[in-house]
Amino acid sequence: MIEPDGAVVQPGQICLNPSQPSTISTLIHELGHKWFWENGLWDRVIANYGNFQRGAECFAAIWGATVFGAGGCPGEQQLQMRAEFGW
Ligand SMILES: [Zn+2]
Repeated sequence: MIEPDGAVVQPGQICLNPSQPSTISTLIHELGHKWFWENGLWDRVIANYGNFQRGAECFAAIWGATVFGAGGCPGEQQLQMRAEFGW
């Protein structure tokens, strides 16, 4: 995968953009993508939360992110995800 700045990221790797306002929030969001991908949940997350970014935003909200650059996660979807995965 090629990022907008030309960086090449291999599947399964996490790439943190230093221009993001919160490194920790970005990391949690990216860990969400990684966790869903590695557990075979990518399609299910898209089906249940609308798209892969929303799923990562909900994951990030639940696990302590404070800055949301991909649209955030509505409270009811946070509750849905907590219930779905027992968080
Ligand atoms: Zn994302």
